[in-house]
Amino acid sequence: MTIQRTLSIIKPDATRRNLTGKINARFENNGLRIIAQKRIHLSRKQAEGFYAVHSERAFFADLCKFMCSGPVVVQVLEGDNAISTNRTVMGATNPANADEGTIRKDFGESIEANSVHGSDSTENAEIEISFFFSQTELVG
Ligand code: ADP
Ligand code: MG
Repeated sequence: MTIQRTLSIIKPDATRRNLTGKINARFENNGLRIIAQKRIHLSRKQAEGFYAVHSERAFFADLCKFMCSGPVVVQVLEGDNAISTNRTVMGATNPANADEGTIRKDFGESIEANSVHGSDSTENAEIEISFFFSQTELVG
């Protein structure tokens, strides 16, 4: 058993369609506990900072614009192997390639508007959690 924490974001396409509760149920049904959560509207600067690793990609500008197009819910999920568990629950980046029963398969609209973000490594999880939350806001 390896308890980990991971940064999750419910993206604007999902908050727009009022899917926060349905998506949170997927996490909880798969053993992930929501130990911090807030609904915010990202500034362009915040989106660019958060996705800085993708700044050279062709989709970067569109992605940042999309992430600022409405509210997001940023959250910290905790559980056994939370980082990979969450990636499995989320499904593949492109909803068209995502497995049946995953969040992106069931709710994603496109490769960009794919409903959720999840950290991809322990190192990035730490960086991404501290981007949005202070230690005292994490209530395990
Ligand atoms: P993931 O979110 O699965 O870790 P990436 O880190 O590769 O995927 O990409 C970050 C986000 O950028 C994706 O979730 C998606 O919203 C967007 N994205 C990725 N690839 C593309 C693409 N080819 N076209 C448009 N948007 C993309
Ligand atoms: Mg990624």
